[in-house]
Amino acid sequence: MIDVINSPVTVLRGIGQKRAELLAKLNIHTCGDLISYFPRGYLNMSEVNPIDQIQNGQIATVVAKISSDVSKRTGKRVTRYMFSVSDPKGNTIFVVLYNQTYTANRLHPGMTVLLHGPVSVIGCVRRMESPKIKIEGVPEIEAVYPLTEGVTGASLSRNIATALEACKSQLKEMLLPEIRKQADLPERTEAFRMIHFPKNMEEAERAKRRFIFEELFLFTVGVRILKLRLRKQNAFPLQPMDLTPFLKQIPFPFTNAQKRVIRECFDDIRRPWPMSRLVQGDVGSGKTAIAAAVAYLTAKNGKQTALMVPTEILALQHYESLSALLSPCGVKVELLTGSMRATQKRDILLRLEAGETDLVIGTHTLIQKNVKFHNLAVAIADEQHRFGVQQRAAIQEKGENPHMLFLSATPIPRSLGLVLYGDLDISVLDELPPGRIPVATRKVGTDMEDRLYGYVRDRALAGEQAYVVCPTVEGSDEIKSAVDFCEKLQSTHLRGVSVACLHGRMKSEEKERILTEFLQNRISVLVSTTVIEVGVNVPNATTMVIENAERFGLSQLHQLRGRVGRGKRASYCFVVSDDSGEEATERLNAFCKTNDGFEISRRDLELRGPGDFLGNRQHGLPPFRIADLARDMKILEQVSQIADKLFEDPSWFILPENRTLFVASSEMLRSATLQ
Ligand code: ADP
Ligand code: MG
Repeated sequence: MIDVINSPVTVLRGIGQKRAELLAKLNIHTCGDLISYFPRGYLNMSEVNPIDQIQNGQIATVVAKISSDVSKRTGKRVTRYMFSVSDPKGNTIFVVLYNQTYTANRLHPGMTVLLHGPVSVIGCVRRMESPKIKIEGVPEIEAVYPLTEGVTGASLSRNIATALEACKSQLKEMLLPEIRKQADLPERTEAFRMIHFPKNMEEAERAKRRFIFEELFLFTVGVRILKLRLRKQNAFPLQPMDLTPFLKQIPFPFTNAQKRVIRECFDDIRRPWPMSRLVQGDVGSGKTAIAAAVAYLTAKNGKQTALMVPTEILALQHYESLSALLSPCGVKVELLTGSMRATQKRDILLRLEAGETDLVIGTHTLIQKNVKFHNLAVAIADEQHRFGVQQRAAIQEKGENPHMLFLSATPIPRSLGLVLYGDLDISVLDELPPGRIPVATRKVGTDMEDRLYGYVRDRALAGEQAYVVCPTVEGSDEIKSAVDFCEKLQSTHLRGVSVACLHGRMKSEEKERILTEFLQNRISVLVSTTVIEVGVNVPNATTMVIENAERFGLSQLHQLRGRVGRGKRASYCFVVSDDSGEEATERLNAFCKTNDGFEISRRDLELRGPGDFLGNRQHGLPPFRIADLARDMKILEQVSQIADKLFEDPSWFILPENRTLFVASSEMLRSATLQ
């Protein structure tokens, strides 16, 4: 028996090469694609419009009696049929059909018909041209599909019906009856019928829910199996050590959240399988210290740690703060970046391979081929959302199943986290170090520029520092650019103040120099692009000005704001914008209102939807056909709960009935990582 589901659509009756090419434009290639081409909505014929309330231009659905003979006018190319329909109150519509001889011949006065189409109203004459017309067996609702030229809804429906019939006996259920029962879902084959040819709206909704559930379930199961596999690998268990020398170097007591998370990490790395943990903490919650503690313990076990960060600026900064902390306790820390001179690099690589280095901090250079470790036991990725699945895998391959720790300042809503990070254990740093005063955020227009930069100047003269962020580097008239705006400030409001510009197009030595000077408070005001978005930590900076703030997303604004409020002094964030559009206003107002990263994240997801929210971060989400993570959170929660229960029972994995499920789910996972 041939595998119809995976066969090209041409095996179906009524589909030839030409038709197949048209369908290919809709990304439909196999019979399976065809039946999984889900409707984007439904036309609800049961919602009938009263004739006397129809407005000019309205697309209306009318059920009425034919109240005249059907007149026919034959022209050269077209044949026109005209008749009228009336409701019991005598309200009438004139109907015109073109060339529909077959239909027209079956019409006769007194017959009830259903019409759907645009109505023109001129004076008191209503007219409907070329409506959809149903004479008998009128279904209550009809699926509506995204179409392309040459493929009509009716023809696509016919193709789908043929495909469904052909595939029917081969469609495999992958949700066992008890799961379907728990989640109240229809059986699969029946659900295909219901989603394409529902008898009523309720059927359509139920079927849709089933397929959303199925997609999310497959992905969830795949991710969890991945996690179980991880547990089967051998990793090097790292023993607890006396932390006193390390704690002596830390200039502050840990917060309770930090203590808890460090304990969770230490518990993980004692085990003989690799840790795979994500630490989520709002900006400024003190994630670096977690990395430091883990690196310390690893070094004292005689093993190596790699800390991978997304930018050179951040690498440099971590190198400076971590070596200050760890060198006094005998941990050897090194920096490795792409812009280093070759000879310098070679020495570092040699020391790394010889095992003389305990902790190496670097950008993606760390995953290059020539980088070899002596005994890498722990790999940490800071600001992990900046790294793709491949890069994470690459650093992992530098050791033998090293323990993996991911740090993230982008708190994502719980349910989205379940999908994105289902293969990770999650720790939440839900406490900021004491004494922090929340950053006060204000929205201002460019008409306030004088006062705003007068304030920045005053703070600078009082010894505090400020960031000014612009959306572009250079040469734009409409929006502020870092280079031009920096020059302007230097010659106007901030004359006499030490101002410098920083952006991604500078040479890295130049960037390093400027950042170091800013750290040492030799530069008071840093005018920059979003290069300072992640991780930069200068506690003496108390003012953040974001120019053309309407250009930034909520989460990005929050990251930028996180650069201030890191010390004990009150900090301000000013978002400058003249955009009075509804969308921008709503976003900026929401931003001013809350400082809570999780709340910001939730709003951002809501406003932008998961695609844009995750943006070009390489998120490793599969291309869902029907599920929508922003909309389907509730179903996702249910999927997770059910999966939790199933995974408690090991016998579930050996059920032969589950084979289809496992195959489908590993396929889905593959499509996610290949994206
Ligand atoms: P993030 O979570 O954004 O990476 P950092 O690790 O950069 O945060 O820490 C932000 C600032 O808070 C740093 O200046 C750091 O020294 C300080 N810090 C971290 N933990 C504590 C603590 N427990 N008490 C006081 N200050 C802390
Ligand atoms: Mg950080």
